[in-house]
Amino acid sequence: MRRKIVAGNWKMNKTLSQGLQLVDEILSAQNTSSQVLKIIAPPFTHLSSIAEKIKSKPDFAIAAQDCHHQPSGAFTGEVSAEMIASTGAKYVIIGHSERRMYAGDTTDILIQKLNCVLAVNLNPIFCIGESSEERNANTHLEAIRAQIKDTLFHLSAADFQKIVIAYEPVWAIGTGITATSYQAQGVHDFIRTEINKKYGKTISDATSILYGGSCNAQNAKELFSCADIDGGLIGGASLKSTDFVSITNSF
Ligand code: PEP
Repeated sequence: MRRKIVAGNWKMNKTLSQGLQLVDEILSAQNTSSQVLKIIAPPFTHLSSIAEKIKSKPDFAIAAQDCHHQPSGAFTGEVSAEMIASTGAKYVIIGHSERRMYAGDTTDILIQKLNCVLAVNLNPIFCIGESSEERNANTHLEAIRAQIKDTLFHLSAADFQKIVIAYEPVWAIGTGITATSYQAQGVHDFIRTEINKKYGKTISDATSILYGGSCNAQNAKELFSCADIDGGLIGGASLKSTDFVSITNSF
């Protein structure tokens, strides 16, 4: 059975002390379900300290928000997948639309990042999603198919099984406009069917596919009740402990 996951992407928010306080608040919440994997994706500078805090909690894990596409070398200011693994983090978000938009993450770069992450036994949380133009032109499914095929379908079955997919329509990220559960379920079902065609039913049934894009404590329950939505990648609403905990309890 695939895992239910709620991942909080803090983006470039929270100082170290603010981040540690937020994690303390989440950990002290009485009502979190141990069946749901809670992943926290703070900035690089906080990874070790937060990994230390959650190390005895099997239902918590840490993710980095990105990594460099080369394993090591003369890349001033960059952080490698191996360095991330050395902090105790277990996941890396790859292909977030903000990185595709502002940091030049092309398909080729994303493939290299995936390879770096998999080489050090980290799990990618791989983001895909259509633009508003693609959605309005009703070409969103072709766009999603191309993103999966071009970036993921070169992977062996063994490597593919380490991936968590996050469907994040670009028009929904940080906009307050959430995909309806009907729209989101339609795309999740499409993604799972594509995985089934490529890797077979056992693997497609076992792949966690998260929804991301203005998901919050009010709309999470309806989204998570859909058959193919296995949780969420949460931006803004992951910055407040009560909201994040409430989302983790929305299954
Ligand atoms: C995200 O950044 O992955 C995201 C989904 O952001 P938000 O929840 O703020 O839309």
